[in-house]
Amino acid sequence: IDLSVQHDMDKLQAAFPNFKDNYRLIKRIGEGTFSTVYKAEDIQYHRYENRWDIDAVENQWRPPPLRNSRSNSTSTSVRTRQKPKFVAIKKIYVTSSPARILNELELLHDLRDSHSVCPLITAFREADQVLAILPYFRHQDFRKYYPHMSVYDMRVYFRSLFTALAAVHEKGIIHRDIKPTNFLYDPDKKRGVLVDFGLAEREGVDTKPCLCHEDRQVRKQKLQQSVAFSSVQAGPQPGYPVNDTRPSRRANRAGTRGFRAPEVLFKCTEQTTKIDIWSAGVILLTILCKRFPFFNSADDVEALIEIATIFGSKKMKMAGQLHGCVFDTNIPTIGERGFTFEKIMLWSTCRSDVSKDGRPSTLTEEEKGAIEFLTRCMELDPTKRISAKQALAHDFLQIDAD
Ligand code: ADP
Ligand code: MG
Repeated sequence: IDLSVQHDMDKLQAAFPNFKDNYRLIKRIGEGTFSTVYKAEDIQYHRYENRWDIDAVENQWRPPPLRNSRSNSTSTSVRTRQKPKFVAIKKIYVTSSPARILNELELLHDLRDSHSVCPLITAFREADQVLAILPYFRHQDFRKYYPHMSVYDMRVYFRSLFTALAAVHEKGIIHRDIKPTNFLYDPDKKRGVLVDFGLAEREGVDTKPCLCHEDRQVRKQKLQQSVAFSSVQAGPQPGYPVNDTRPSRRANRAGTRGFRAPEVLFKCTEQTTKIDIWSAGVILLTILCKRFPFFNSADDVEALIEIATIFGSKKMKMAGQLHGCVFDTNIPTIGERGFTFEKIMLWSTCRSDVSKDGRPSTLTEEEKGAIEFLTRCMELDPTKRISAKQALAHDFLQIDAD
């Protein structure tokens, strides 16, 4: 182990009284903007009556099987009392605000029985330091498995991800940071769990009415009165107003670059759980195109340019109007009509050339099925975008029980 990691681990053990009686730190498994995560062994494990379902190979916690778990309510209550042998200890940085830390722990507590969501076992605080204890979930690095995923593998992966999203959204919670590193997936077991509720929030709290939730006629009227306008300009701005007197808009923009939904970029003030569906769509686009990261913008305007390149300026203008935003661009690579996902996938996987028999190459039937599902997830209008529950009923996610 790296000396500085060992030093951090020693410090952590010293900061919490009795830490060493309860946990044995094994290694550091993650380091993010807001936390460091360690793998540890729960050394009191042998004492528990209700031990967690233990995997024969690596003594690790295993989430219950995907099917039929909801029908049996007693098994859920047992599950919360059970203990895993290996845990993930998430040390939340002291620079995070107390409100933010409390929010994460509260939401995790709310989601304790939710399927495919990594449950919180317990949490400790010592002065300004907070530790969240979660069952350790073995997973692989996304970069390692995504280039080799078949369409069937994608369906299994997204069935698992959307199961978690449906459970989170059912509670009225928006995760806000759906991306590969926050969905721990084990390709061998074909199971995943959702982690990291550090940016999550309750839907409908801290929102203001946005035009996107008005009926079309009302929106049209309001747009004509142009009271609700603010504008996003993409590209060089010769006539950019220096003394812009329009009120600036405030909206939650938390999330990760490249995974932000268009309504987040357009500063919609009434964001919903649909923003997570867009981000899940970006993961699917990444896997289909075999390019990670797929979007690589430095800021929100650049992110809008990237999305506009795919969808075209016409649809992008309409998407902006939904939230009272004017989208305007003079960038030559953004066409009016954009490109289909099918084209983008063929280009990205270098299959756009004409094949030997002289006809343009096309996608397989199952790839077309994936693109159809992708189109439903990456729908610019959040009110038309598929929900997690609807997604679970979509053809693409119907797979045989294993
Ligand atoms: P952050 O807010 O710093 O992003 P996360 O909760 O996303 O914190 O955890 C960071 C990383 O730690 C994850 O990407 C994952 O690799 C690892 N990790 C987190 N929770 C677990 C867990 N329960 N089991 C195994 N690894 C985990
Ligand atoms: Mg994370």
